[in-house]
Amino acid sequence: AEKTVILDGAGVRRALTRIAHEILERNKGVADLVLVGIRTGGVHLARELSLRLEEIEGERPPVGEVDITLYRDDFKGHTPHLPVGKTDIPFAIEGKKVVLVDDVLFTGRTIRAALDALMDHGRPDCIQLAVLVDRGHRELPIRADFVGRNVPTSRKENILVTFDGDNRPLEVVLEK
Ligand code: 5GP
Ligand code: MG
Repeated sequence: AEKTVILDGAGVRRALTRIAHEILERNKGVADLVLVGIRTGGVHLARELSLRLEEIEGERPPVGEVDITLYRDDFKGHTPHLPVGKTDIPFAIEGKKVVLVDDVLFTGRTIRAALDALMDHGRPDCIQLAVLVDRGHRELPIRADFVGRNVPTSRKENILVTFDGDNRPLEVVLEK
């Protein structure tokens, strides 16, 4: 397969630093801010953003996790009404500003399902979306508030987001 580097290590780090600043600008700091990553890539990125936010503001927003595999409305062979149990958010989101984080935004179905899981968990003040890559092809009226890089893709192409042994992001590659 043909591979094109979209973001190298420095590129990923700069994109995350910029997104951290954009999150702070939009929310006027880290007060009442919480991050929720979508397993697994989104969780690694949420932790990375949380560290960036701490570097800039001196306070680290908590990071929760949501695994939406079984919430997907196109998930075959399972009832759509599964009990909530795939979220791991050890703090209240009531009245919080939640930044949902994922590695790649594609059709939007994962985010729709994650929103369901979040709403089952509490009533946040607002939910914003941060993604490292938006590859297009939306099938739902969903958009990201913070985007590392917009990458026009064909449906057959694939974006590889790699992480090192400590789950720190390494690079973003387009695989044709
Ligand atoms: P969607 O639900 O928007 O169709 O797909 C987004 C979810 O699928 C994300 O959680 C993301 O991790 C994964 N995904 C979709 N397309 C890609 C891709 O090209 N590369 C990677 N790494 N993940 C993708
Ligand atoms: Mg994913």
